[in-house]
Amino acid sequence: MPRSRFYQSVSQYFKKAARHSTHPAGVLEQVRVCNATYRMQFPVREDDGTVRVVEAFRAEHSYHRLPTKGGIRFSKHVNLDETVALASLMTYKCALVGVPFGGAKGGVRVDPAQISDGFRERVTRRYTAELIRKNFIGPDIDVPAPDYGTGEREMGWIVDTCKNINMNAAATYASVTGKPLSMQGIAGRTEATGLGVYYGIRSACDAPELMNPLGLIPGMAGKRFIVQGLGKVGYYTAKFMTEDGKAILAGVAEREGALYHKDGMDLEAIVKHRQKTGSLEGFPGGEFIADRMAILEYPCDILVPAALEGQITTANADRIQAKIIAEAANGPVESDAEKILLARKVLILPDLFLNAGGVTVSYFEWLKNRAGVSFDRMTARHEELTKQQMIGAMEQLSGTRLPADEASRVLARPNERTLVLAALEQTMLRAFDTLCAFQHERKVEDLRTASFLFAIERVADSYRHHGIFP
Ligand code: NAD
Repeated sequence: MPRSRFYQSVSQYFKKAARHSTHPAGVLEQVRVCNATYRMQFPVREDDGTVRVVEAFRAEHSYHRLPTKGGIRFSKHVNLDETVALASLMTYKCALVGVPFGGAKGGVRVDPAQISDGFRERVTRRYTAELIRKNFIGPDIDVPAPDYGTGEREMGWIVDTCKNINMNAAATYASVTGKPLSMQGIAGRTEATGLGVYYGIRSACDAPELMNPLGLIPGMAGKRFIVQGLGKVGYYTAKFMTEDGKAILAGVAEREGALYHKDGMDLEAIVKHRQKTGSLEGFPGGEFIADRMAILEYPCDILVPAALEGQITTANADRIQAKIIAEAANGPVESDAEKILLARKVLILPDLFLNAGGVTVSYFEWLKNRAGVSFDRMTARHEELTKQQMIGAMEQLSGTRLPADEASRVLARPNERTLVLAALEQTMLRAFDTLCAFQHERKVEDLRTASFLFAIERVADSYRHHGIFP
């Protein structure tokens, strides 16, 4: 059977990077292949009582670390090839940012924009039951999370289904991440992927050695960007880029079309308008463009595809005007298109690195669930007391008092969200520095090849140390 374009594209990226590795061919093949897949078809009752047969998948790409981890996607385009390709990206992503999991991915072939809430719940619960039946879910086995078309509501149904079938309570919560806070989710998970994308873009923008060749002034402030997809990832990326990074939101694309204004638009006003009218059309602050793909070719400094794979292909790559493509989505640039873009000296911040914030915070959530206690609970008061003592000692030594507002700022107790987001920032900054240093050291041509090669070496080393290969 011919493989899908997305699968082929990921394979091309893997091959290009693997050429730089000195690991034996057999080890590299083990790093590439998918360890296990489960394809299922099950009946789900529609709201009118009729039955629809739904096709769904789970791919566990790599058992070099356990559990495996990866989101569940609801999309009418889902297929086994896509699920496997996405699962492989999860393996490499985890290896790149030091999250000790193998990669996995789930896919359910339904259109998230067309199903009712009732159908959504029934399909989620049935899919979970199928995963339990085949041992494809569990805190030490495989831990799903949200992806395109799913969110904390679905993760809540998954927990509840696990709880009601055969898992003990402790195991249940660590079996899925991205849960609502009331079901032992973690503060900061909702915005984690978008915030991680922002940290990644900010790191690149702050690096003169990356900006100078593009003819751009270092720093994010004042840079124009276009975002495709205003979902969980796209919305938060745009929010942090405008509010914290002071970048200019010049364009937005959604299913129904796009908006553009070179001087910038108000993100919250766009979201409100779309919630009210169901469309971007008619928003007074920007020009509406009916062709949602055309906006990718409009003038900007940074293009942020945050919807789906395969958006930049050989059909549009030579017309992209952005100098930086920030892959918030998984696989938005096809490998043949990347050749064109690299020849045009476009800087591509690859998905493996850029959208790893989601799995990073999922890892923190899993740790919290395993420990059965949130990160701030054991340390917050102790930290406050320690800081009080330090301030007291410094005031005694200097004979001056710290102004009250300054003292309360310094003394603020860390809560779960501040701890989680600080650790996320640290992870993204460290990954960026590691990646740039590795690219330099191994003399590879671009950041994607460096990301893949770094991950390949990590996973291959792990297989060798496990003694699977002599
Ligand atoms: P989402 O379902 O929350 O949002 C996707 C948005 O894209 C929706 O608003 C949808 O209407 C819009 N969209 C769909 N087709 C479009 C098109 N052709 N043009 C413009 N907009 C379109 O999904 P998400 O969780 O934000 O995921 C987006 C991407 O990020 C996916 O590639 C996903 O795999 C990747 N990703 C997600 C996470 C996560 O934590 N959710 C983590 C890493 C990577």
